[in-house]
Amino acid sequence: MQTATLFDLPTIQAPPLVPAAAAPAKPKRRKRIVHASVPTAPWTTVPDELIRDTDWVVVSSSGGKDSQAMLSHVVRRARALGMLHKVVVVHADLGRAEWGGTRELAEEQARLSGVRRFEVVRAAGADLLERVKLRYQKLRAKAQREAVERGEDPAAVKVPPAWMSSAARWCTSDAKRGPIWTLYTRLAAELAHLGRPVRILACIGQRAAESSNRAKLAPVEIDRAASNGRRHVTTWRPIHGWSDADVWREIARSGLPYAAAYDWGNRRLSCVFCVLGCTSDLVNGARRMPELAAAYADMEVTVGADFKKGLSMREIIRRAAELEAEHGPAARPPAGTALSGYVGKSEAALYRGRLALLRKQYTLAN
Ligand code: SF4
Repeated sequence: MQTATLFDLPTIQAPPLVPAAAAPAKPKRRKRIVHASVPTAPWTTVPDELIRDTDWVVVSSSGGKDSQAMLSHVVRRARALGMLHKVVVVHADLGRAEWGGTRELAEEQARLSGVRRFEVVRAAGADLLERVKLRYQKLRAKAQREAVERGEDPAAVKVPPAWMSSAARWCTSDAKRGPIWTLYTRLAAELAHLGRPVRILACIGQRAAESSNRAKLAPVEIDRAASNGRRHVTTWRPIHGWSDADVWREIARSGLPYAAAYDWGNRRLSCVFCVLGCTSDLVNGARRMPELAAAYADMEVTVGADFKKGLSMREIIRRAAELEAEHGPAARPPAGTALSGYVGKSEAALYRGRLALLRKQYTLAN
């Protein structure tokens, strides 16, 4: 059998809907150039040397259990070194997406631990949920533009899911990382008189036990993306090797208040409906915050995709309603319930005493 040559193939007559010359040029991605002064590797990974050698110790706090365990651990080390004045706690406010009272809780944890400076940063413009819609509009416009370029019907395009996912963590960069970088800019400006790049030690409460991806993270590394000629940022994950039990033991020891959501049975805090959250956390969220769950369900309709692959908010709400019908509205478990599961009832009672004392001492001192 003879193989058809290029000349045997029929000529395609239909012209493209948009002539190639008229197709809008794709914007070129600018290559980010890291400033030459930014180191490629940290000079030390020894915690006390990291604290001693830095200008600022910035503790990122979501108000969750890992953040607060990290906070009390870092504060203890900084205090022992006489460097508590360097510590700044920053909370990225997620607005209605996070459990009510989280910002206030993060502030109380910082104040009671002895930190003087507490900063709240917030992404400008749309909140996290509204950003899903904006992203959908962008993705749809892109898909339609590409369909036109291919000579296809733009009305029939399939728009990729706009929701955040473990593979598309744009929520973290938009709502947390970006706003926290604005604080780095301010902190660097405050020490501009040093005449050299300001050194920032950014403490993050990520743990290896949370996921295989987090297990791969280095306990200490240079954050080259956040660094520039005015600031050098080193990421430190002080509790990277800790287990859940280690975290709760640190909370018990510190006496710092923890979020009520844990007593309700949650494993994670931060966004009530986090794409990385387990189903029981999500159902728990829908039982406690039904209006927010309804807003997420409405957004599923707007963007034509489920909140999570294989799990829609409609289904989460259905499960929440089923539990409410079966058990009735749950009474709030006593404070300390989650903690006593790890450290026992008597240690949890001691923790409550420590917390009451800390609050009393703070009120008297301020
Ligand atoms: S808590 Fe979850 S949904 Fe919220 S910003 Fe973080 S990763 Fe995204």
